[in-house]
Amino acid sequence: MPKKCKTPKPSTVDIFQILMETAEKEKKKRREALLAPLGVKEFFVEGKITINKRTCEGVECKLCIKACPTNALYWKAGEVGLIEELCIYCGACVLSCIVDECIRITRKRANGETEKFSKPRDFAVLQHSISVKKRFERVKSVFPKPEDYIKRYG
Ligand code: SF4
Ligand code: SF4
Repeated sequence: MPKKCKTPKPSTVDIFQILMETAEKEKKKRREALLAPLGVKEFFVEGKITINKRTCEGVECKLCIKACPTNALYWKAGEVGLIEELCIYCGACVLSCIVDECIRITRKRANGETEKFSKPRDFAVLQHSISVKKRFERVKSVFPKPEDYIKRYG
């Protein structure tokens, strides 16, 4: 009986995916190298920042540039310029901006939570809720759970 000719299985290697992952890794490395001399070790790796050049009061303001801790913002040819690789999505610029919705930031935490803000008030509320959550976690780690308390003293 003649042997059946086996058709080779199609390759399961996704070249596009590999290229994307490599580019992401390279971008992360570049950002780490740029931010390390500034003493920045922790930052939101994923995020997006936009500045509305039409509503920005740049000439009389420039407050965001003064507030930026990494010099990601600068003044160029009559408007605010941005080097996104230096941006750590900290929100200091939104907090100091005099125009609501002018700077928009979206950032992703390690746990997958996404945060969006574009007004100083929204940013302040968000920061407050983060601090409350952190405090609660600290208290939880110090005090025993009710069931452990009952076991110990019940
Ligand atoms: S989010 Fe922080 S690091 Fe990014 S531009 Fe604004 S102030 Fe600078
Ligand atoms: S703080 Fe806001 S209004 Fe002022 S220069 Fe920056 S983006 Fe423009």
